[in-house]
Amino acid sequence: MNRRLFLKLSATALIEVVGCQNRDRHTISSPYDITVTSDMKAGHQLLWPTPLTKGEQLNTEYIIVGSGLAGLSAAERLADRDFILCELSAGLGGSSSHASYAGESFSQGAHYDLAYPANYGRETLALLEKLGIVAYDPIQNCWNFVDKQYLIRESKAEQIRTETGFQSEILTPGPLKTAFLELVLPYQGQMKMPTWLIDRELHWLDQITFRQFLARSLDLTPDFERVIDYQMRDDYGASANQVSALAGIHYYTCRPYYTESVELFSPPEGNYYFVKKLVSRLNPQRLKTQHLVKRIERDRYGFQVEVIDLSKKALNTYRAKFIVFAGQKHSLQYIFEPDQHLFSHNAYAPWLVMNLVLSDRLNADGFWQNEILEETNKVAKKTFMGFVDNATQVRHNPDYRILTAYYCFIPDQRQILADIETHAESIVERTVTQISNYFNRDISPLIERVFLKLMGHAMPIPKVNYLFDDQNQYRSEPGLVYAGVDNSRLPLLFEAMDSGIQAVKLLDQI
Ligand SMILES: Cc1cc2nc3c(=O)[nH]c(=O)nc-3n(C[C@H](O)[C@H](O)[C@H](O)COP(=O)(O)OP(=O)(O)OC[C@H]3O[C@@H](n4cnc5c(N)ncnc54)[C@H](O)[C@@H]3O)c2cc1C
Repeated sequence: MNRRLFLKLSATALIEVVGCQNRDRHTISSPYDITVTSDMKAGHQLLWPTPLTKGEQLNTEYIIVGSGLAGLSAAERLADRDFILCELSAGLGGSSSHASYAGESFSQGAHYDLAYPANYGRETLALLEKLGIVAYDPIQNCWNFVDKQYLIRESKAEQIRTETGFQSEILTPGPLKTAFLELVLPYQGQMKMPTWLIDRELHWLDQITFRQFLARSLDLTPDFERVIDYQMRDDYGASANQVSALAGIHYYTCRPYYTESVELFSPPEGNYYFVKKLVSRLNPQRLKTQHLVKRIERDRYGFQVEVIDLSKKALNTYRAKFIVFAGQKHSLQYIFEPDQHLFSHNAYAPWLVMNLVLSDRLNADGFWQNEILEETNKVAKKTFMGFVDNATQVRHNPDYRILTAYYCFIPDQRQILADIETHAESIVERTVTQISNYFNRDISPLIERVFLKLMGHAMPIPKVNYLFDDQNQYRSEPGLVYAGVDNSRLPLLFEAMDSGIQAVKLLDQI
């Protein structure tokens, strides 16, 4: 009996949750060993508190909430000062985190970035240079990556599967593509990062949807819209009908993709590479994982902060003069109610990342990004975004091949993640079937281990009127500032890092 059939027959009878080493990580025993990582249960302690013992009390100057790239960039700026960073997860990095197996490290979220044009924000470029990540290239007039071994070769960068077979370009050449490029390319050079650097004259593009913008000048076809929607969901978590024209144009023109060759950088552990670089500059004792910030209150000293130490089941009380809040803002209603209204219009796309660890007898040529744009994908409510194949990346253990699949859900489907947390088999099976069809062979006998990362509030959707309105300007307490891509920024690495830098600068002005 093949493994897939066995899986179908055994259904839920085999489900067993074993060995809870970390609160946010458990293993489901099934024909595949599936390790699920999710912060949902930990986060829900904000809603339904559990009994806690009295924990430590201490004073510090700064508390940083969240260890995504925003929180860690803020920490890097505060490296020589007295700070504590609290992260609810067992690992650092937030949506740029990773997992490891048999000496191989792989991404569980953000997984790449591209060379940075010289007109991008100076402070973030300086930080990336200080971390030894980029160096200025005067010939190309841009900031290229230092670790060249992690660049993805252009010929191996992408393959797309549609109903009619494989293709190498996602936007098929033809008159509509030409007209589309004629429409967006004039914006090349003006779509900077961080986005607050973009000229005011272009801000109107944030007030209409990308689809409205395109439909005004182009005769859109269903096929063309399908591709554009796919690309918007891939980077912004929602279709062209929802994201702003500015976000859409930014996607195609923030770098000179169509006129020059742009370095594509994807280390095996994805953007956790950037996390590691930041962490290497910080005192590890200041970084507290499994620490959930539960409540912030103003007091005479500055702020009193209740923090749950999830590993000890203890309630710590910290006092701090300043706070950088770099966690997702939807939880402010429980943590710091006075400012919750500032972010009440944010919408977040839930994401699921699945790493399939294969013993490498998959004798197929690899492409880095494998997009699946088939009609049959509609069965999965258009949520399956394809997979990344580490055969094109630097590998430490050649015995293993890791395929990392991505699912993007709509906000209303968040509950699906809660179900997947305990019943992961069916989505794993569905993914294995999709990827087997892609390779035209059953990959299920090669699967040794499966890792799943569930992120309920993974990606803020850059809807109409979302950008250019930094909520720090309306904050109720000067000493409590906001960082993170969900504060009026595109959900991208450079924006996240810049938000951490700008947050500390705001505090320094007090
Ligand atoms: C699946 C996926 C793929 C992506 N791919 C890319 C990519 O390839 N390139 C790219 O540039 N961008 C990508 N992104 C966007 C990515 O989110 C940003 O680049 C960036 O990592 C966001 O960082 P952040 O610090 O703003 O937020 P996050 O990474 O979300 O960090 C927030 C952190 O705060 C913690 N936290 C929240 N509340 C609390 C609390 N109360 N107490 C303690 N801790 C708390 C969370 O656990 C989390 O670790 C991707 C996003 C997703 C979801």
